[in-house]
Amino acid sequence: MHEMGIANSVLDAVRTEMKRYPQSYPCKIGVRIGEMAAIDPEALRFCFEAMIHETDLASLELAIEICPRRHRCSGCGHEFVVRAYDSRCPQCASLATICVGGDELELAYLEVEEYGSSTVGAKSTE
Ligand SMILES: [Zn+2]
Repeated sequence: MHEMGIANSVLDAVRTEMKRYPQSYPCKIGVRIGEMAAIDPEALRFCFEAMIHETDLASLELAIEICPRRHRCSGCGHEFVVRAYDSRCPQCASLATICVGGDELELAYLEVEEYGSSTVGAKSTE
């Protein structure tokens, strides 16, 4: 299950990013996944939650955004979302279109919150 590796990289990225915000903790991480990236969002969520369970990141929420497959027309340059595997250009009906999106795997955003005075600081794993 490669979702476990992906969840691990996402958490690595969060920990790296949080070094820039020592007075804050991460509350939500947004991940963008292309629909052709061969990643099962539910499996990824399951792995992610299993990995943060009982850690300092246990309250971190994972938000998954699915990106549709996108093509660009070689003829007129029009960019469009491919639906039902019809990759024909909707503008000029050309079949010469190339895939320009839909296999993403990237971090979209990270929401952080500052620690309140009563909150215990995050424990470092390093
Ligand atoms: Zn076109």
